[in-house]
Amino acid sequence: MKRPIEPFRIKMTEPISLPSEKERVKYIEEAGYNIFKIRAQDIFVDFLTDSGTGAMSQQQWAGIMNGDESYAGGRNWFHFEETVKDIFQKKYVLPCHQGRVAENLFFSSILKKGDYVPNNTHFDTTRANTMHKGGIPVDLPCKELNDDSEFRFKGNFDTEGLESFINKVGPDKVPVVVITVTNNSVGGLGVSMQNVKEVRRICDKYKLLLFFDAARFAENSYFIKKYEPGYEDHTIKSVAQEMLGYGDGAMMSAKKDGMANMGGFLAVNDAELAGRLKELLILIEGFPTYGGLNGRDLEAIAIGLKEALNEEYLAYRTDHIAYFGEILQEAGCPIISPTGGHAVFLDAGKLLPHIPAEQFPGQSLTVELYRKGAIRAVEIGSLMFGGEDPNTGEKFTAKRELVRLAVPRRMYTVSHLEYTAEIVAQIVKNKGSLKGYKIVEEPKYLRHFTCRLQELVANPVSAV
Ligand SMILES: *Cc1c(COP(=O)(O)O)cnc(C)c1O
Repeated sequence: MKRPIEPFRIKMTEPISLPSEKERVKYIEEAGYNIFKIRAQDIFVDFLTDSGTGAMSQQQWAGIMNGDESYAGGRNWFHFEETVKDIFQKKYVLPCHQGRVAENLFFSSILKKGDYVPNNTHFDTTRANTMHKGGIPVDLPCKELNDDSEFRFKGNFDTEGLESFINKVGPDKVPVVVITVTNNSVGGLGVSMQNVKEVRRICDKYKLLLFFDAARFAENSYFIKKYEPGYEDHTIKSVAQEMLGYGDGAMMSAKKDGMANMGGFLAVNDAELAGRLKELLILIEGFPTYGGLNGRDLEAIAIGLKEALNEEYLAYRTDHIAYFGEILQEAGCPIISPTGGHAVFLDAGKLLPHIPAEQFPGQSLTVELYRKGAIRAVEIGSLMFGGEDPNTGEKFTAKRELVRLAVPRRMYTVSHLEYTAEIVAQIVKNKGSLKGYKIVEEPKYLRHFTCRLQELVANPVSAV
């Protein structure tokens, strides 16, 4: 693959610096081998998340200076509303300060205790908000997800599974079906238009609402244009409009394809639902023409949503990620393939077979990335998803031991990716020396954010 070239040049810089080896060793030890506890200033290249971490364009910064902070009816609101209505093909728009607030508002308005919410795969806040309102989240990813093929739409919904699930529990227990584009939790993989249409057909048959969790709608639209026959000659915007048009509404985190550092919204077609959402919005976020955001932020999002649909940008964005995956593989590290729209997942389970899941091979790799290169990644394996059954005391581990390198939008250059691949190559060379970890301090919930760990001196299993 050719080295992708950034379709922008740098006008303003933010310095980053590489701490010395001595400092890196000290910082990670002080952090209890938990990467969340390291100060951002002590990180050289930060791949923790692509959420709210991207760089804004000159147009967005200019838009910020055009911020109108009137309490009601500010001009940026009208620009924002018009932009969202146009792209999302919806009648009503409710701004809010993050995606999870959109989830909170929406699920509060439609869920009853014991209702099911099928999703191609829930993102963690979506799952938590569903459960918080008494709902039961159900993940139905497509079967191709677990094969070794290079199928491009492994983010798809298992539509047969969806229909049989609806028949099993009864449509009355399913107030809404949610499609997440791209499918974040399985690697930011795309969902095809054909799959979206099939979910729509099923929702029509059983008279169910269909909503999008649309955080990466632009990256998904690009995958459809690039890989789905029949869309080659469409504009990205028309693909997005068609796709989102199949939904009755959408929840959006503008921290991703909104190209902004903060923000979110709900877009819906039903007047009665919009009315209920608006009442709740005023209660918890703010007046419906700002909803917890500054006027200037609404402007930055309105501009960002349009920039996210620029095909040249999207080609660069997805090539940048694919190139990263390729050089990491060349460095000798197994990855999850194909790569999705926003991150590369390293397969630490495959790379470090001498470290059992109970000793967190993904965390071992994550720590080493920091120790060797001040690179921040995040473990997505048994530290995040494993634990102990509170009823039986039985210990369980995750299905896969992964490490995610999420790439912020328009922020790092190819040099930063190549630097990371060089560090990974060094780690791969000495992989037998990597050790397992044990937890020494653990909170009750979401332990990966705050737990402290200890490096094990030697592995009970000999290195392979
Ligand atoms: C980030 C994200 C959310 C939550 O949005 P926040 O802005 O972080 O609250 C919901 N769904 C998906 C798919 C996401 O990626």
